[in-house]
Amino acid sequence: MACRSTSPSSSSAVEKIPSTSIRILRSVEAVRRWRRPHTLDRRTVGFVPTMGALHEGHVSLIRAAARENHHVIVSVYVNPAQFGVAEDLGSYPVTWAADSAVLARLDRELASDGAGFLAAGVSAVFTPSTADMYPAGFPGQAPDSPGSFVTLTPISSVLEGASRPTFFRGVATVCMKLFNIVQPDRVYFGQKDVQQTVVIRAMVRDFMLPTAVVVGPTVRAPDGLALSSRNVYLGARRRAVAPVLHDALRAAETAYSSGAGARDRDAILGAARSLADAVLADQMALAPAQRVRFEIDYLSLSDPETMQELAQVDPARGAILSGAIRILPVEDPQPDEDRGHSDGPLVRLIDNIIISPADTAAA
Ligand code: AMP
Repeated sequence: MACRSTSPSSSSAVEKIPSTSIRILRSVEAVRRWRRPHTLDRRTVGFVPTMGALHEGHVSLIRAAARENHHVIVSVYVNPAQFGVAEDLGSYPVTWAADSAVLARLDRELASDGAGFLAAGVSAVFTPSTADMYPAGFPGQAPDSPGSFVTLTPISSVLEGASRPTFFRGVATVCMKLFNIVQPDRVYFGQKDVQQTVVIRAMVRDFMLPTAVVVGPTVRAPDGLALSSRNVYLGARRRAVAPVLHDALRAAETAYSSGAGARDRDAILGAARSLADAVLADQMALAPAQRVRFEIDYLSLSDPETMQELAQVDPARGAILSGAIRILPVEDPQPDEDRGHSDGPLVRLIDNIIISPADTAAA
């Protein structure tokens, strides 16, 4: 837990993560007070929004922000508006003690590193309450809920938005609020949530927000699984099979780069589908106490800016290969089996690979 200490330069109580100078800001007004002098001093602020349960994916974004800005602020806020009515808001991992330890460790790393970082540490963490973030009341999670929302169409209705109709409305709304509170020079998002990056770029462009959007690469476990706060739900049995989505997307990427006819949607996504089918067949040949069942939600080949589905890849433009799978709860759990956080509910995972535009000058 955070303790309270008094800043020597101020008579008001300043809350910090213990043994660090990372300020814990709990209200909108506290962030505004923290932010104001940096504008006057012409010090840049980099902002990393998160929902906590911090892992190396988040840490890589905080490091990127520290390389490019004088100050780094991280938000830790589980935003109810981006969860559907039937989704996992109630069980989403909230791990403040571990998160503050991650931030403290990173703060020391930034302070001790002689080269490369502009920021000398993590300046602040913003942990607002839902009453602060939604002054009009708890935000509706149904598509027809009344409330003040930011909606970007059609990008919010395809792919992840088709499966989760209020998801991007919730993301855009909370990010608009957070950007208005923090007023960052740069914001940092992960490639792992590629559609989110497209939505945020569109919001910044369309609403003339004075911030630059920086996207950091996906951080993966050695077996290719993209790090995600939701991986804690998997447990050992399902964790072993979870890289299947990344493996399928890589098969599609290999099909694309393999030559003649390979720009065609069916050839590219067919390779991904075949790999996933083969892995599922292997699993279904096992006993219920050993196997893992999963369903492909979608596999997509889409335009890098609009995320509309493509029939063919234009190499000069590139494409996004993306997908989602639902990993079902284990059958016949064994008495001592590690089933994961919250007894291993259904886990939905997403991933993507970017097909970069070809270097036409070299072609
Ligand atoms: P979340 O806490 O899941 O809302 O994620 C906060 C930020 O971290 C988002 O910009 C995510 O895209 C990013 N992020 C999550 N997982 C990864 C990862 N494995 N690699 C890079 N960035 C990530």
